[in-house]
Amino acid sequence: MTWFAATSRTLLLIIVSACVGALYGYPQEAVILVLLGISGFSFYQIRRVQLWLQTPEKMPPDAYGAWGDILSRMYFLQRGSLEAQAQLQDTVEYLQDSFAAMRDGVVMVDANGCIKWLNRSLEPLLGLRSPEDTGQPLTNLVRAPEFNRYFLAMDYSTPLQYLAIGGEKPLYLRVEVTPFGKAERLLFVRDVSSAVLMEKMRREFVANVSHELRTPLTVISGYLGTLLMDTKAFPERYVKALTQMGQQAERMESLLKDLLWLSRIESEQYNSAHDAIDVQGLFHELRDDLAESHPNSVLVLEISTDETIFGDYRQLYSAVSNLAINAIKYSPEGNPVTLSWTLQGDDLCVQVRDRGLGIDSSHIPRLTERFYRVDDSRNSATGGTGLGLAIVKHVAAANDGQLKIESKLGEGSTFTLIFPARG
Ligand code: ADP
Repeated sequence: MTWFAATSRTLLLIIVSACVGALYGYPQEAVILVLLGISGFSFYQIRRVQLWLQTPEKMPPDAYGAWGDILSRMYFLQRGSLEAQAQLQDTVEYLQDSFAAMRDGVVMVDANGCIKWLNRSLEPLLGLRSPEDTGQPLTNLVRAPEFNRYFLAMDYSTPLQYLAIGGEKPLYLRVEVTPFGKAERLLFVRDVSSAVLMEKMRREFVANVSHELRTPLTVISGYLGTLLMDTKAFPERYVKALTQMGQQAERMESLLKDLLWLSRIESEQYNSAHDAIDVQGLFHELRDDLAESHPNSVLVLEISTDETIFGDYRQLYSAVSNLAINAIKYSPEGNPVTLSWTLQGDDLCVQVRDRGLGIDSSHIPRLTERFYRVDDSRNSATGGTGLGLAIVKHVAAANDGQLKIESKLGEGSTFTLIFPARG
């Protein structure tokens, strides 16, 4: 029954009671009696609703008038919300089950940094216990300064990899954080020790092979040099062959030198020197060295900051010199190459710009791979090893920086080493 019908019925009852009461000479008393009856009935219905609301999953009691309509609507709303809640609970349980079954460690952290939930795989990785540690601040329980620094910095654009030494044996862990909801975070923690070990073995293998090859190669190029000092002793065709052997031996020597340097920077990645570097002095030293090795080069220096960066001078020198030599190599002779040292916002930038051949954008993402060449003809003319930019990228990473490459075919290239400025 609708509200309108119920109200009309009540009014009718009052009017009829007033008329009947008037017949007997007590109209007011009759109306009061009827009003008391209606109120009593309403209180009775309210009580029934109250009792039903204590166990709302049961069917609502039978009710009369508008009460019946209200109760059945409440019941349907209640049913709908219970079903939605059950569905949500199912989804949460399904997600928790799948996270629980993962081989990676998973931990959910609330906006205050306290643990909400963690899976079993995480326990040996971070030394946590479930459910005892639930509700505790994560950074109070993980005793690794790198982890805590990364977690609190709130910049999760790149994953963290660190050596965790608190557990039964040292482990290399990779941590990825995904923020969600209201500043809650989901952390995936993976044991990458075997991958790191393989990578270390590969590095050591390359370093050892390069090292072992150096001695015989030095002997070969030494003898070739001696033989070529007296070219008259050989027929013309031997001289040509010996000259080519000498050039190739020289190329192999620079390859081995670059390979050794690369594996050294890679192995120093986590403990490079952190000296204050005088970039201006570095530029001047490089200009003097290039004046000797590349006498036709034109180097322009632009220095607009006296800020210092902290890192390894030898490594940074090798990176900037690789970039400058590339800029000279891949530009028409005599084209100016600009080295600049600037503060841009929060970043300190070492930039090497040329107006040379430029690089097609399709090559740029792969340029820093070892031995990647834009095209072989370009390379055979310049005699590069294909390792220069790989070295530059690793130097940047080992010194908390990054390498940015911008280039347009036919217009020139800009290589920028970006380092964070310290306060
Ligand atoms: P390479 O020893 O061959 O120079 P790099 O790793 O230093 O090896 O460079 C990779 C490739 O990138 C080069 O072969 C060259 O084609 C291209 N390249 C690097 N620097 C420049 C530049 N400044 N201008 C044009 N091309 C460049």
